[in-house]
Amino acid sequence: MNELSPVFDRAAARIGQLSGHFINGAWQRGNAAPIDVIDPATETVIGQIASGGATEVDAAVNAARAAFERPEWSAMPAAQRERLLLRLADIVEQHQDEIAAIETLDNGMPYAIARQMAVGSAISSIRYNAGWPRRLNGETTPVSVPGNWHGYTTHDPLGVAALIVPWNAPFAITCTKVSAALAAGCTVVLKPAELAPMSGLRLAELVAEAGFPDGAVNVVTGLGTQAGAALVAHPGVDKISFTGSTATGQSILRESAGSLKRVSLELGGKSASIVFADADLAKAIPGVAMGIFGNSGQVCAAGSRLFLHDAVYDQFLEGLAAFAAKLVVGPGTRDGVHLGPLISAGQKSRVMGYVEAGKAEGASLLFGGDAPAGAGYFVNPTVFVDARPDMRIMREEIFGPVLSVMRFSDTDSLDDLARKANDSIYGLSAYVWTQNLAAAQAMAKKLRSGSVKINGSGMEFALPFGGFRQSGLGRENGRDGVEAFTETKAVMVGWS
Ligand code: NAD
Repeated sequence: MNELSPVFDRAAARIGQLSGHFINGAWQRGNAAPIDVIDPATETVIGQIASGGATEVDAAVNAARAAFERPEWSAMPAAQRERLLLRLADIVEQHQDEIAAIETLDNGMPYAIARQMAVGSAISSIRYNAGWPRRLNGETTPVSVPGNWHGYTTHDPLGVAALIVPWNAPFAITCTKVSAALAAGCTVVLKPAELAPMSGLRLAELVAEAGFPDGAVNVVTGLGTQAGAALVAHPGVDKISFTGSTATGQSILRESAGSLKRVSLELGGKSASIVFADADLAKAIPGVAMGIFGNSGQVCAAGSRLFLHDAVYDQFLEGLAAFAAKLVVGPGTRDGVHLGPLISAGQKSRVMGYVEAGKAEGASLLFGGDAPAGAGYFVNPTVFVDARPDMRIMREEIFGPVLSVMRFSDTDSLDDLARKANDSIYGLSAYVWTQNLAAAQAMAKKLRSGSVKINGSGMEFALPFGGFRQSGLGRENGRDGVEAFTETKAVMVGWS
């Protein structure tokens, strides 16, 4: 046990200071009653955030607008923007331990994972996006109208970007969005999730420390239905970049239609993993297991449906059970813990509701389906076999450590398999495990999802990420992710 170790003491003290909205480079407190923030491992209050609404959103959007228009930002050379982002990445890296501890107390994820994956990947995404200001070139285009013309395009920043973030990987998602928006030349109003807001607030301080001008990054905390909705409705917002549930994404699209705000949506998933008979099980078993149990299943791209070939069915499931038995579920502040709690009591009861639904609909529980006794919103890794495509556990996003398994055999063609994997309203990711790269490539072509990973998983910031169908609209990462914060402008110069 190291629950009282100094890094968590320092993080707890820092959390106590992160209260208020961060607007135009300064902390501001609102008048509304603050919202308690709870450590999901202990169910205790670790801090409070301000409950923002239309007034605070208006102040933040105005600050972002003024910063966007000031030459200090709008005329900043691309190389300077790059330098500021690289400096921000360095500063985040210097605070890696502290931010990871904040993330552990706030979100529940195990400290080692928070440090390497959450904060580590956030640093990588900032450094990746830092490369874009100087590379965001347009095109020159032959012009066919009469006369002599030079035709070219530019990618102009959209203006004020509202970034609305979920609680499942708060720091990583926040840094991806903030760095892409700033790289494109936008200014930002961030709305962190009320269930895990602390690392986003800490980022605002570090952005200021890196030397970004006041107003370039503002943060308004509060409830989605108040602070979030006010941002979506605000006429001064040019772009909404949202990550969260499909239902909220749909509501944001409806609410922003009147002003035709540009909208990017990264939403839910029900991603398929397909394990062929010739898969390297030594890699596929841990890969599939951590693809659904990692972050206690609270991952949009989680491989929550497993299609498993007959020939390796028993061997794979034995291996999966043995792997899962070694996973330690507990508070992320303890050494050696692999899986932390779910984010809230509501999320835990939602996940346990799906476990009951799976049993009631006739799936067989291979292991798990229960929760450790005591405080904290923990759920043990759970696997259902004999799942059918019409069951709720196969169709709906559970967002917990629950895997549903279906068997296939040689009588299923690749088209049959793709049809089963594609049979979802979602289309975020898919995972294929086989040593036959021709079959893998054929599957990659047939699968209708934004990403296909063959013999592995993980996030690559140079590749676009996003969903087909109800998994979203638009892409993050790669060139697409930065261009999503720009408008393309066509310029024609008549030269004689
Ligand atoms: P959520 O939709 O409840 O909340 C996300 C954010 O939106 C929060 O900041 C919340 O305060 C805000 N919000 C809620 N209602 C709003 C409204 N009416 N207007 C404006 N903002 C509003 O989602 P969640 O429960 O925090 O996150 C879990 C979901 O996020 C899952 O469905 C998961 O799949 C998805 N997710 C997707 C990705 C991706 O990249 N595709 C990544 C992570 C999580």
